[in-house]
Amino acid sequence: MSPARTGELLRSRLVRARGVPTVATDEVLARTTGILYLTCGLLVLAATLRSQSWSGANIDGIRIIALVAALLGPVVVYAGHRLPRPLYHVLVAIGTAIVTLLVLFGNGGEASVALAVPYIYVIIDASFFFGGLGMAFHVALVMVASTVAMTAVGLPLADLLMVQGFFLVVSVIIAWLARIADLAEHDSLTGLVNRRGFDRRLDQELARPRRERGELALVLLDVDDFKTLNDNLGKRAGDQVLASCAGTWDRVLLGHQTLSRYGGDEFAVLLPGSSLGKAADIADRLRALAPDGVGMSAGVAAWTAGDTPSILFGRAEVALYDAKSAGRGQTVVYGDPTRGASELEAAVAADELLLHFQPVIRLRDNAVVSAEALVRWNHPQRGLVPPNDFIPQAERTGAIHALGRWTLAQACAAAVASSDRRGIGVNVSVPELRGSGYVDQVHQVLSITGLSPERLVLEVTEALFDEDDPQVVRTLQGLRALGVRVAIDDFGTGYSSLRWLEQFPVDTVKIDRSFVAAIDPDRGRQPVLSAIIAISRSLGMTTVAEGVETPEQAIILRELGCDYAQGYLFGRPVPLEQLPRESTAPVG
Ligand code: C2E
Ligand code: MG
Ligand code: MG
Repeated sequence: MSPARTGELLRSRLVRARGVPTVATDEVLARTTGILYLTCGLLVLAATLRSQSWSGANIDGIRIIALVAALLGPVVVYAGHRLPRPLYHVLVAIGTAIVTLLVLFGNGGEASVALAVPYIYVIIDASFFFGGLGMAFHVALVMVASTVAMTAVGLPLADLLMVQGFFLVVSVIIAWLARIADLAEHDSLTGLVNRRGFDRRLDQELARPRRERGELALVLLDVDDFKTLNDNLGKRAGDQVLASCAGTWDRVLLGHQTLSRYGGDEFAVLLPGSSLGKAADIADRLRALAPDGVGMSAGVAAWTAGDTPSILFGRAEVALYDAKSAGRGQTVVYGDPTRGASELEAAVAADELLLHFQPVIRLRDNAVVSAEALVRWNHPQRGLVPPNDFIPQAERTGAIHALGRWTLAQACAAAVASSDRRGIGVNVSVPELRGSGYVDQVHQVLSITGLSPERLVLEVTEALFDEDDPQVVRTLQGLRALGVRVAIDDFGTGYSSLRWLEQFPVDTVKIDRSFVAAIDPDRGRQPVLSAIIAISRSLGMTTVAEGVETPEQAIILRELGCDYAQGYLFGRPVPLEQLPRESTAPVG
């Protein structure tokens, strides 16, 4: 699993386990905290202009602190939601520190009592947005800090006790109210958010600026024949199926993906950042995880500009209806031009596909040693469609065989036509390897084009490869017997990586770009990357790092002993004629 995915899974588990209210989204938290900072600063500043009775107070000190708070507010409102979660605790603790300084500068008397009021802000923020431990920590911090400050400026014990009493009561009431509000958005059987909670999140997601949100997909899942199941086995068994689906799915989905029991036996999943193809994959995965003997149908739709939530839902419902009427137990994607195999096959025949090529360079000397062929669909209406939007569906419908044949033949022909003897990488889908004729197909293409087999590298994505199909292993062995090389693509995104490496006949490991993106140049060691490179080496495999975007990443990879690299730093995928002969990337 990639580090990014592991981190995200961990975060989602933590958020769920700590009982943080679901209303505590990053946006709401940042906005509220920022507004509290701003209003605290402005109100205190205003008070320093008017209050004549604050004699003895350090008015200049109070003004500086209030100004800092007021200035921090808008920054937190604007950018706070981009902060990693743990930093919110720091923000709230800074709030406590600011109020404590205000109390101290009040120098006792009326000013200090008045300036202790904003502690309530901190209490509200912490009690509403943090679960158990986090809340307890901030409330305790406020109580200790306020005791120290108020004692230091000589406020009477009675005042102190009264203020602390307010803090405790407010904290308990706010935490209680937040959790009651939360319950109204949850389904009692599954513990998932209900229709109301889901609709609110969808509204929230659609309210975000488009550039921040990116793609957004919606999946509706419905249990097939749920009524028969209830009638035959009883309502309790029906409930168990729903609870079991909810539990299993909730574990595999990431923190930013929302799973909801939308009503009856229907579940909805909101997938920010997912394309149609990816969402369809996720729908398939969730369907496969349903309890044994329980069939599921899924409808998938993507948000397009101007859609209201009901339009998006309408589309997903149409797709779900199609899935049911086409025989159930399947995923249907709304309005996907690749919905039927015939459409993509027709596109292959109509010459609507094209290949772009991305250089692969040798890190030792920056020489371009090969190129990877990446397919695109030049769709008459949609323009240039990226492969992730049609390959998953092509794999499902079987159109992948026609597409794979075309890609292989085109890529090999292009390699032969080029004047150099560089290698050519071609992506292969697992369904192609499952066919018994794949080795013959490759053999034929090599004979027809005259490409020598050692120039061809067939790339198979590891994430898709989590099964032990003997035919796949036979195909890989057959390919290597032809002299063709085999690479594991996106290594680290699957689940059985190490066993895989030992067991399967491969020559090259292509390290997924999430590992490269996680390189931190300030940290000397890159333990995960060095381990992958060392293991690959010890098994006699070469390594290619994917997604290299900066010279620093390239330098570190070279130092770690990675053999080759690919990424925007060295060149984006381009038509063959624009493929560079040498890399001009600025790597020291
Ligand atoms: P892949 O084989 O891992 O290809 C690398 C993908 O990463 C490409 O996306 C490429 O444009 C992108 N990429 C390369 N360098 C960078 C970088 O520095 N930063 C970032 N952010 N991205 C980078 P593309 O072309 O959209 O292809 C996506 C996937 O579609 C491929 O992933 C491959 O799994 C699949 N694919 C492409 N062509 C074919 C094909 O002919 N047959 C099959 N079965 N799958 C294909
Ligand atoms: Mg690839
Ligand atoms: Mg890859």
